Amino acid sequence: MKSATKIEISKKDLEFIYGEDFILFEQKIIPYCYCANCKTSYQSTIINYKIFLNDLNDIILEGFCKSCNHPIARYLETGEVEKYQKIIEKVKRKILKIN
Ligand SMILES: [Zn+2]
Repeated sequence: MKSATKIEISKKDLEFIYGEDFILFEQKIIPYCYCANCKTSYQSTIINYKIFLNDLNDIILEGFCKSCNHPIARYLETGEVEKYQKIIEKVKRKILKIN
């Protein structure tokens, strides 16, 4: 029963999910993405990114490399972190109701 369903969430939703960890997200995730074009092994900054939740409750960032503008994505395994689970479910329910 694996599907590729993913829903887009806003940066506000992401802040809500991470809570006080959001600062770590900005400091430790955003500047450390992998760009296949630059080949800098997780030293590229992702910009103009969209944020998605997949059906495993993981977060996916899809954006562009700051230095070369190549499309890059970052996968965050929030689905395995218990403290994020409830909030992610809440965000999902909120979004799916609106749509
Ligand atoms: Zn790049």
